[in-house]
Amino acid sequence: MKKIPFEQPSIESETAESLSAKLLQVSSQLMEANKELKRMELERREMLANISHDLRAPITAIRSATDYLTSGNVLSDEDYRSCLNLIDKRTRFLEEIIQDMYYLFCVEDTSKSLNLQTVDAAIFFEEYFYDAIVDTRYDNHDMKLEIANDLSIQIAIDIPRIVRVLDNLFTNAVKYSFPESSITLKVTQLPSENYILVSVIDNGIGIPKEAIPHIFNRTYTVSSARTPNSNTGSGLGLSIVKTIVERHEGNVFCESEEGKGSCFSFTLPCIK
Ligand code: ADP
Repeated sequence: MKKIPFEQPSIESETAESLSAKLLQVSSQLMEANKELKRMELERREMLANISHDLRAPITAIRSATDYLTSGNVLSDEDYRSCLNLIDKRTRFLEEIIQDMYYLFCVEDTSKSLNLQTVDAAIFFEEYFYDAIVDTRYDNHDMKLEIANDLSIQIAIDIPRIVRVLDNLFTNAVKYSFPESSITLKVTQLPSENYILVSVIDNGIGIPKEAIPHIFNRTYTVSSARTPNSNTGSGLGLSIVKTIVERHEGNVFCESEEGKGSCFSFTLPCIK
């Protein structure tokens, strides 16, 4: 019988050690990925539950109004008009939720790549600002632009997607502020020089401290009662902002104080 020699600590044992370290690393990565999958699954289920809930209220209102209109008991022209107005308003709300949901699913789909174009950051944001402020929505607000004169940075962006980010932040700044308040678009270069920081700052109603960690979640709406015109949207706007910015390798941030205002910021990598 052949004698098996005693194994000295050798390359093989080192290999076994490094293999086991690698296995540990892979298994912890798998655990993290699994956790992330579970979190996403939970978020998806919550979103479906929230959206079903959000869709039910307008559908019930539309059904009641149409039942009333077709009952033959409509009392006056005014009654008739207010039912039609209600149907119109609720239908628009349903359209907005469905459009935003579809948009979110499209931007989340990483199998579809972004259409990146290289642009000069200062020119891009300046053009956005001057195009936006001609909209009558901003007529009652003091619109300000702050971009350093010497900002000379190139960024690679999917233009319509970043326009959508700015549109959502500007729309919210108007929606959650009172007339005559100010809205500022500020663009700066971060000290690391590798990123620019874009901020939309308002001095509107602000956000309660406890709500801030949730506002980028899908369908999170603080409360319709808090908006100056009792008008909230689909609740998907900031999730769309976050998804688009993260697909550009950037991050989103929110600083806000109730009664004082909010600052929504995002970063975008610069081209070196
Ligand atoms: P919504 O359709 O409800 O506006 P968003 O995802 O855009 O959905 O925003 C989520 C919530 O964050 C809003 O319901 C609102 O309470 C709060 N919010 C967003 N932007 C602002 C802002 N500029 N000022 C105050 N609250 C804001």
